[in-house]
Amino acid sequence: MANINNSPSKTRRAEVAGAGFAGLTAAIALRQNGWDVRLHERSGELRAFGAGIYLWHNGLRVLEALDSLNEVLQGTHTPPAYETWMHNKSVSKETFNGLPWRIMTRSHLHNALVARAKAVGVDIRVNSEAVAADPSGQLTLQTGEVIEADLIVGADGVSSKVRDSIGFKQERWGSKDGIIRLIVPRKKAELGYGEWDNTIDMWNHWPRVQRILYSPCNDEELYLGLMAPSDDPRGSRVPLDLEVWVEMFPFLEPCLVEAAKLQSARYDRYETTKLDSWTRGKVALVGDAAHAMCPALAQGAGCAMVNAFSLSQDVEAHGSVEDALVAWETRIRPITDRTQQISADYAANRSLSKGNMFTPEALEAARYDPIKGVYSWPQ
Ligand SMILES: Cc1cc2nc3c(=O)[nH]c(=O)nc-3n(C[C@H](O)[C@H](O)[C@H](O)COP(=O)(O)OP(=O)(O)OC[C@H]3O[C@@H](n4cnc5c(N)ncnc54)[C@H](O)[C@@H]3O)c2cc1C
Repeated sequence: MANINNSPSKTRRAEVAGAGFAGLTAAIALRQNGWDVRLHERSGELRAFGAGIYLWHNGLRVLEALDSLNEVLQGTHTPPAYETWMHNKSVSKETFNGLPWRIMTRSHLHNALVARAKAVGVDIRVNSEAVAADPSGQLTLQTGEVIEADLIVGADGVSSKVRDSIGFKQERWGSKDGIIRLIVPRKKAELGYGEWDNTIDMWNHWPRVQRILYSPCNDEELYLGLMAPSDDPRGSRVPLDLEVWVEMFPFLEPCLVEAAKLQSARYDRYETTKLDSWTRGKVALVGDAAHAMCPALAQGAGCAMVNAFSLSQDVEAHGSVEDALVAWETRIRPITDRTQQISADYAANRSLSKGNMFTPEALEAARYDPIKGVYSWPQ
């Protein structure tokens, strides 16, 4: 590992709060550049929350840079098409002109990143909650310990304490819809005739608004996202109200029966967070702490990983950490802002139900190559 910084005799130190996709990416990328990195996770164990996840070209390129791509690709799936149905009839099939994308379980992606973080020597502390940060380069833990560092990364999610302790100006708003996310057995053979290797985004606007995002992760596992408005007591009920879902999507009954067995199911609304700035002094916010977004374009984690990786590039390229953070936000934030805005509009208007909504603008973040710093698609 090269130690490329301005004072070769002194290894620079980063303290990272939060071991989600953003924090793990930042920790690995900084460590690969020769930093001493400590990663603080509030929970007692390292694990991913949620069910499945889509990664696109941008996130896959980050995994390549972190030397984790081959491991992640094992046991994941690229569907032949992203199909949209309205009232159980196909309205579009998108293939994104060959743009790489992949579906996987969150635990699969998280485990690969944790393994890589350990392999490169990130010092991971569980049961270690960050409660505050100071722009001068201090992180305060719940135990009262105050740690000094050259860089503090707040990757502690949508309710970030690092962010809130500093007092960034922020706008936050929730969506009218929410989603129950589950991993169930594929049951492909029981579903009858159909192109069940596709992603199928199944919308119904009538008699109730209900949507299922059907996403195969591999031969055994299926990611189901069941969307319903938050003011629909039956659609948002957990464990699943089997009757109300089978009535609307009878052909998925074998999978829905499995889904209804899951007592741990949660109904989550989405949140958008917009900050006046992502940085203050030596503190940088990455991931949902900085830019939680609606999942319409499946880019929250993709942008988080790109931004965390780009941060590690920019602290190598500038004289001081403070200057690097300002340059990083200026360089990388506009893509996330535009993606967040389209995601919010699509979610508010339920636009994906029209089909063919993955326009070049909607795919802007997905087309970005963070290693080269250019849009590399279409080639
Ligand atoms: C329904 C839905 C579907 C989505 N689908 C996709 C998708 O397909 N593709 C995609 O790219 N994105 C998707 N997203 C977005 C994606 O899930 C998030 O953007 C991403 O997980 C954010 O990662 P993060 O590391 O910033 O935050 P988190 O995943 O929230 O991780 C934060 C970590 O910090 C820890 N923590 C919290 N507070 C502290 C503290 N004070 N100190 C220390 N540790 C702390 C937490 O325990 C957690 O481990 C979706 C989001 C939703 C809601």
